[in-house]
Amino acid sequence: MQSILHFINGEERPAESGSWIDVHEPATGLVYAQLADGDARDVDSATEAAHQAFPVWRALGVEGRSRILLKLADLIERDLEMFVAAESRDNGKPLSLARKVDIPRAVANIRFFATAILHFASEAHIMDDVALNYTDRQPIGVAGCISPWNLPLYLFTWKVAPALAAGNCVVAKPSEITPLTASMLGRLCNEAGMPPGVFNVVQGIGSKVGAAITSHPRIPAISFTGGTRTGAEIARVAAPMFKKLSLELGGKNPVLVFADCDFERMLSTTIHSSFRNQGQICLCGSRILIERNIYSRFRHAFVERTKALRVGDPKDHASDLGAVVSKDHMEKVLSYVALAKEEGGEVLCGGKQVRLDGALAGGWYLEPTVIEGLGPACRTNQEEIFGPVVTLQPFDNEEHALALANDTPYGLASVVWTQDISRSQRVVRNLRSGIVWVNCWMVRDLRTPFGGMKQSGVGREGGTEALRFFTEAKNVCIRY
Ligand code: NAD
Repeated sequence: MQSILHFINGEERPAESGSWIDVHEPATGLVYAQLADGDARDVDSATEAAHQAFPVWRALGVEGRSRILLKLADLIERDLEMFVAAESRDNGKPLSLARKVDIPRAVANIRFFATAILHFASEAHIMDDVALNYTDRQPIGVAGCISPWNLPLYLFTWKVAPALAAGNCVVAKPSEITPLTASMLGRLCNEAGMPPGVFNVVQGIGSKVGAAITSHPRIPAISFTGGTRTGAEIARVAAPMFKKLSLELGGKNPVLVFADCDFERMLSTTIHSSFRNQGQICLCGSRILIERNIYSRFRHAFVERTKALRVGDPKDHASDLGAVVSKDHMEKVLSYVALAKEEGGEVLCGGKQVRLDGALAGGWYLEPTVIEGLGPACRTNQEEIFGPVVTLQPFDNEEHALALANDTPYGLASVVWTQDISRSQRVVRNLRSGIVWVNCWMVRDLRTPFGGMKQSGVGREGGTEALRFFTEAKNVCIRY
């Protein structure tokens, strides 16, 4: 059985506790690895190593750091197939998705920040005949990075890469449900020539390792992606310690379909925005709002397309959906389908567990599910399900569409489908979400700000936003 270890001070190590956590393969439901069960002692060692390494890493300067990070990106690319297989096995996602999206985007994240730092500039404010102000942005020291299970390496690198590029050392924690690919980075960091202690991974559960990172007095910045409830707990602990905090949290994203849209394009993209990665992407659109005069056309076409999706072995090229990440998560999603029925919803397709044969008989597979007949206020339309489940609601006009779209505590992403440019601008302006896609979905430019409003988070990642988060601004005023 494979052991998944910490990576601290340039070395792979078991946990101080000597205990292990079972890691499951969602495709089969079987335990396939043992994970180091870390705690505050391991976080202490990693933090100490990071502090020791900080002056060395900082002294390399932007060009030195950039070179090492670019090398790291090349090495992941060299080992791409290994990472792809590991991500799919650990998470249950189709191999083809890991190959097309997860691992290439992780490589792109690292390359992007390795080069962005070379162009990172700061402001000067000149007061005529009085003084010159300039803003000096220096790394914070040691950054804590905590990430979720849905896009394991992709979201992990989205934090770690800007933190490192900006000159910080990192104590990072991937999800205990999908720890594998983050654990594979350590060896490559060594190979890329990164000094020991710059990048540390402490494995284990959130309430021990995550909590120890959050409350550690020598980790002054926390970048977190995960559930809203966990984000609230992190803020409760970290805010009174005056830590810098970036919180990327849950969503309940609306897709607004106007009658004048390019119907075929909208339909194929909406199938992806609903069910890609088994609906386990924070950016998936889970509430589809459709203009009433095309509601039945949409409903018919969408249900047909959904029924044609194949749920199967993640390794099989023909599978559109693989397994969901865990038994608990599968049960949570199924409990929401039951709730939707109790609330008066009608399941138009899906709604059940899929049972595969042979080695996959114990795996956690779900049918893609479409539900209609529910109003905006019910729990099914208010709470994040984070699985292959969407609801359909008709709307009468722009105002009605916006009222439905904005009627949740979340505000992460929205999708708008219309050919009318004026309407798209009116609607976009009034949507309460941090990201809006018009006539597309998941098109990502890494320079753009990424994050949510309301209970979807605080702060933004991406581009200069991330580099600013991972640096401390100091204004220097020089009198003429
Ligand atoms: P989660 O909040 O359960 O866990 C996320 C991470 O936090 C894990 O590494 C976990 O071990 C750790 N953690 C748990 N308790 C902790 C604590 N008390 N202190 C510190 N760390 C702790 O989330 P999840 O189930 O892994 O991921 C799914 C959630 O993530 C969904 O809500 C989804 O919307 C959200 N998400 C958001 C974004 C975004 O960019 N906004 C992206 C992906 C996922």
